Amino acid sequence: MSFAKEYEFLTEIGIAPRNSGGFVDGYWKGSGSVVSSVNPANNKPIAEVVEASLLDYEEGMQACFKASNIWMQLPAPKRGEIVRQIGDALRAKLEYLGRLLSLEMGKILPEGIGEVQEVIDMCDFPVGLSRQLNGSVIPSERNPNHMMLEMWNPLGVVGVITAFNFPCAVLGWNACIALACGNCVVWKGAPTTPLITIAMTKLIGEVLVKNNLPAAIFTSFCGGAEIGQAIAKDTRIPLVSFTGSSKVGLMVQQTVSQRFGKCLLELSGNNALIVMDDADIKLAVRSVLFAAVGTAGQRCTTCRRLLVHEKIYDSVVGQLLKAYKQVKIGDPLEKGTLLGPLHTQASRENFEKGIKVIKSQGGKILTGGSIIESEGNFVQPTIVEISPSADVVKEELFGPVLYVLKFKTFEEAVEINNSVPQGLSSSIFTRLPEVIFKWIGPQGSDCGIVNANIPTNGAEIGGAFGGEKGTGGGREAGSDSWKQYMRRTTCTINYGNELPLAQGINFG
Ligand code: NAD
Repeated sequence: MSFAKEYEFLTEIGIAPRNSGGFVDGYWKGSGSVVSSVNPANNKPIAEVVEASLLDYEEGMQACFKASNIWMQLPAPKRGEIVRQIGDALRAKLEYLGRLLSLEMGKILPEGIGEVQEVIDMCDFPVGLSRQLNGSVIPSERNPNHMMLEMWNPLGVVGVITAFNFPCAVLGWNACIALACGNCVVWKGAPTTPLITIAMTKLIGEVLVKNNLPAAIFTSFCGGAEIGQAIAKDTRIPLVSFTGSSKVGLMVQQTVSQRFGKCLLELSGNNALIVMDDADIKLAVRSVLFAAVGTAGQRCTTCRRLLVHEKIYDSVVGQLLKAYKQVKIGDPLEKGTLLGPLHTQASRENFEKGIKVIKSQGGKILTGGSIIESEGNFVQPTIVEISPSADVVKEELFGPVLYVLKFKTFEEAVEINNSVPQGLSSSIFTRLPEVIFKWIGPQGSDCGIVNANIPTNGAEIGGAFGGEKGTGGGREAGSDSWKQYMRRTTCTINYGNELPLAQGINFG
């Protein structure tokens, strides 16, 4: 078998027309189902992958578990240095990886390259972090000759299950920190983006081998729910980081909890952007366009609800409708395209079903609302006028569908913002500092990400990323997220000859 001409570049990042999908103790294996990775722009196969089976999983996990003993004993700054080298390996292949991402997931090329860049940034982050996994010294009440301290130890193996829409950035948020913290990583990417899983794993594996380290420190499997469930059940994995829908996340959490494991959840969003009557309307309209149409509405942080003050409603909606008309829809790899296809044919069917439900609940389509007849999974960017109390508004429809809603007061807008089961991202457009500070405070947005005068999407890695309520409560990437990938050890040390007890207890 050989590649079609346009896919030949894939050999530069280790992809063949047929690939094994399990990275087991440094070797590629696959004894599961044979699947095709499909280009969402034309639904034609790109390459084949033999997925990992449960037998491959068990073999890979045994090696990974064994490797954790070696990795956790390497000094943290040395681990940081290895992660830095992974960043360099990705940097050298940035363009190819970005193109593959665009080809396989369907996001436009600048977003594909941007996503790989995010992983590179995540590889730079732990270089400093690995020298700052600081504990603390706490005064002991049993003085003299006692000392209390807290230190942070690695967990062992961290499981990372990721979604199709960010097939490598989410790996970066988790794996770069988990590795620097001294954990081995076992990764299962989305079943529809196996080529990105393989390309990333190859580059990471090569860096480990070059440093004479066991490649099993980073173990990965292409596969679906069966491998995901195996990770959730596996007592060798103390922490499972899961990114995906709230529905599947809840199942994973229940499975992990049954064995008293820990879960880090990054689940569905239903993000609102509020435009106050004093806002810079141009800035707001540009932000909504990027937040609602970018990645074809398939970001967890996509703006799904636009809340506009009644005084400027007609002006904002009018300008937005004009901007929507100019959105260039087409091949995500072509220059100038702003809206690529949805990821799968099933996503396109879901969009169609969603529009029917919207109409049945009183939604008025202002623009879009249809699929685009073609061999790819293209749909029209859509704006819908609807009541905030319609049931459909409470759900995450994973496509470029924006609900526009009118409000009278800031308090009413906050109430609508907070009225959905999800709590990921939110943003307000206003020039008034008193409104901004109310918005980010206890009476404001109940989301994990609370912005002002920027879109709901496009988070930076320096902050902790994640959301509340149905979004799962997890925090990943920057700030002190690293603490979740380590176990806190509280130590009281007696370096004298007396045995004073806490709370002044005299025990005989
Ligand atoms: P999904 O829930 O269908 O799948 C996510 C992952 O879970 C995939 O790897 C899948 O194979 C795996 N999986 C499926 N069934 C499983 C099971 N029973 N046990 C274990 N794993 C299982 O989600 P998706 O369609 O790939 O992604 C879209 C969703 O992800 C959206 O809801 C989006 O908002 C969410 N998301 C959230 C964030 C965030 O940071 N909050 C980021 C990206 C995506």
